[in-house]
Amino acid sequence: MKKKYAVQKSGIRGKGLFAVSKLGQHEIIFIPKGIIKTVKRYSISDAKTEQHMLAIAPHTWLKTGKSDPLRYLNHSCEPNAYICGFKIIVATKDIMPGEEITIDYSFTEEDPFWELDHPCQCGTPMCRVRIRSITHLPQELRTAQKQYTPDWLQKYT
Ligand SMILES: [Zn+2]
Repeated sequence: MKKKYAVQKSGIRGKGLFAVSKLGQHEIIFIPKGIIKTVKRYSISDAKTEQHMLAIAPHTWLKTGKSDPLRYLNHSCEPNAYICGFKIIVATKDIMPGEEITIDYSFTEEDPFWELDHPCQCGTPMCRVRIRSITHLPQELRTAQKQYTPDWLQKYT
């Protein structure tokens, strides 16, 4: 299958994933691959040192390889994609060619110690600046984003 994205310099931070052709609302963009990593309990040290991982269940992450597009999927507080089910990256709206593909990291993680290691620079009007797990979000926001929340985090919406 033809790749729907390309890695390019991001206007948000570092490198990002960009649509190479128009992506329709609800279209699957990619499914990350990796190895499963688990911990018994969340800790500050794990939350600070581990990178390139996608939480897919309580205490369970997918650790992605060097070539996985997930590594370049930037956070935005007003994203155009989300995690559907457990790890499927899906467009929330039509994405035009050349547009950066983003997800809201807060809706991928329940670890209360996890925090984005820099202030968010997404530049959207709704920017929360400090990005932490879903457990720190106001209930109204969780409820509003219910349809864009992975299955295992639905209990917070
Ligand atoms: Zn932001």
